[in-house]
Amino acid sequence: MRYIDAFRDGRTARRLADAIGELVGKSRFSFMEVCGTHTVSAFRSGLRSMLPEGLELRSGPGCPVCVTPNSYLDRAIALGRKGMVLATFGDMLRVPGSSSSLLEERARGAKVHVVYSPLDALKLAEDSVGTVVFLAVGFETTAPAVAATVLEARRRNLRKVKFLIAHKLIPPAMRCLLDDPDVRIDGFMCPGHVSVVIGSEPYRPLAEDHGVPCVITGFEPLDMLQGIYLLARQKAEGTAEVQIAYRRAVRPDGNAKAKELMEEVFRVVDDEWRGLGPVPQSGLRLREDFGEWDAEGIPVDVEPTVEPAGCRCGDVLRGTCWPPECPLFGRACTPEHPVGACMVSSEGACAAWYRYGR
Ligand code: SF4
Repeated sequence: MRYIDAFRDGRTARRLADAIGELVGKSRFSFMEVCGTHTVSAFRSGLRSMLPEGLELRSGPGCPVCVTPNSYLDRAIALGRKGMVLATFGDMLRVPGSSSSLLEERARGAKVHVVYSPLDALKLAEDSVGTVVFLAVGFETTAPAVAATVLEARRRNLRKVKFLIAHKLIPPAMRCLLDDPDVRIDGFMCPGHVSVVIGSEPYRPLAEDHGVPCVITGFEPLDMLQGIYLLARQKAEGTAEVQIAYRRAVRPDGNAKAKELMEEVFRVVDDEWRGLGPVPQSGLRLREDFGEWDAEGIPVDVEPTVEPAGCRCGDVLRGTCWPPECPLFGRACTPEHPVGACMVSSEGACAAWYRYGR
């Protein structure tokens, strides 16, 4: 048996699903995963169909592309229109801004390059005559690599590269959801990748202050069933703790080196999330020492932000609307012709529902 097959065994999955069913009984629970990879894995493996009727699994703001607000895209597009070279990961290309996307801008002649690592932006800057702006979007998972790249740019004294930072922190967004009276969450399936970096401690106040169980979960089907089982067991026992169900990758104190890099390069700021609005202490920006590499201060005319009419991405990201409840889902909005960000990214809830859930 391959190593990975151990996490996909059908009989073990059935046993876990039965145990979850017994724990849930006649209760009704709403658990939320806050990770695009969980969203896709749950659909792709068919796990949702194994869950008891009383248990729903909602997707929260766990897709980094989806939670990045239009205003960020609009600023990036404005920088591109000013002649700067934009370096971005491919999943940002088709995300609609207020009136355009990076893909459309590239078709109109803007210099938009897809890169596979932040370090590629340094190479691009060394080979380029103009300024290169790297679009740094993502959670705690990708922020350390960007921090290391900023330090490398400084070490090389490479001033032609700038960073437009929109990194976001997951635990403050989870707290924001718990404070929202319209959102019901009985347990959080915490993101495995993010937790590799931050560890389990940042979730403790969520469990203790709000009485909501948190289980850090991996991405294979059995990982996820185990995470759901532990959440259901906590609900049945009336406890609210932080548990790690992904011990092969996550330590309670996270990754010290990665956290050190983030601490050295970034400061924590209040930040804007699509769907959640402004969330206190939920974003990262470059520290003043790195002002030379900060694209945020570059003067540029940014168009007024406009949200796509009828799109319910905000509600989808808060878990108050299932994607098919959006009137545009599968009609005006499809992966080929996305209206909102949640249909663009392969990890977006709308795209996952479209591909696997219909
Ligand atoms: S289906 Fe499309 S328009 Fe509707 S919420 Fe999702 S991304 Fe937005």
